[in-house]
Amino acid sequence: MVERLSGRAPAFSVEFFPPRDEADELVLWRAIRELEALDPAFVSITYGAGGSSRDRTIRTTGRVVQETTLVPMAHLTAVDHSVAELRNVIGWYAAVGVRNILAVRGDPPGDPHGEWVAHPQGLTYAEELVRLCRELGDFCVGVAAFPYGHPRSADLDTDTRYLVRKLRAGADFAIAQLFLEAEDFLRLRDRVAALGCDVPLLPGLMPLTTPRTLAKTVELSGAPVPPAVARRLEPWADDPVAFRRAGVDLVTEMGQRLLDEGVPGLHFYTFNRSKATREVVGRLGLVPARA
Ligand SMILES: Cc1cc2nc3c(=O)[nH]c(=O)nc-3n(C[C@H](O)[C@H](O)[C@H](O)COP(=O)(O)OP(=O)(O)OC[C@H]3O[C@@H](n4cnc5c(N)ncnc54)[C@H](O)[C@@H]3O)c2cc1C
Repeated sequence: MVERLSGRAPAFSVEFFPPRDEADELVLWRAIRELEALDPAFVSITYGAGGSSRDRTIRTTGRVVQETTLVPMAHLTAVDHSVAELRNVIGWYAAVGVRNILAVRGDPPGDPHGEWVAHPQGLTYAEELVRLCRELGDFCVGVAAFPYGHPRSADLDTDTRYLVRKLRAGADFAIAQLFLEAEDFLRLRDRVAALGCDVPLLPGLMPLTTPRTLAKTVELSGAPVPPAVARRLEPWADDPVAFRRAGVDLVTEMGQRLLDEGVPGLHFYTFNRSKATREVVGRLGLVPARA
């Protein structure tokens, strides 16, 4: 799959989470079908914290392989899994034809900021999960990166050193957590390059269609809204149409700046909807002419 990120033209990819119920499932599959026509480099499906959501990840990923032309990337975490269980899930992914895995450690269930406790027969860091995936098959393996540093990291230098270690453990690429200005991602890329690592890094973007998506971006990124972004969006807090227009413009401009800086692609966090992502990738010229 990493070949699709090293073509001459930049690509885009999209991320979904497993549907919770039948209504969710219909919404997700509508988004999948609408995006399929735009030929994304891959679609990734997140891995939940508990049994039932994990089953739904596995089922959804299997359906993407069997029923669409899309290239799936399955997320996998080390949360509450022994190594034997992780081997099973990886084996299952391979059996249904999944060749791409995003290996992330995961957060403690219930409290993402709580103390991480490894399963007694499990793994402690994503780096070990990368090695396990590599050991078990010919997978293309991705990892997570954090433009402002992972919340548990002492400082940016330590964070970058561990990220580079994880990339050198056998990752083919990394996807960045949400950030609020293109420069924040570019500084992460510079830090990694300064340690002599040239593994491709994909910026993660979420179309800012509502104040809720902005709040989610702030929460996940771990950074406050910068003044330049606040000036563009805050005047429209009570005007949904104008907010959406300003937010989609802002994310499109950020995407353009990143493409001008030579990123191999843009990864979109979609909330299982496709409309805003289709608008942004259309405006950026990332879709095939026939679509
Ligand atoms: C693109 C993306 C997709 C995600 N998908 C999911 C998902 O599907 N499901 C889910 O539950 N969560 C997901 N997450 C969230 C992720 O699981 C959490 O952010 C988690 O806290 C960190 O995962 P990691 O893989 O970066 O961990 P790690 O790389 O293991 O890092 C965790 C912390 O340990 C430090 N560290 C790393 N290696 C070492 C070492 N050798 N020694 C000491 N310290 C070390 C790091 O600096 C960091 O502070 C995703 C995040 C991103 C950005």
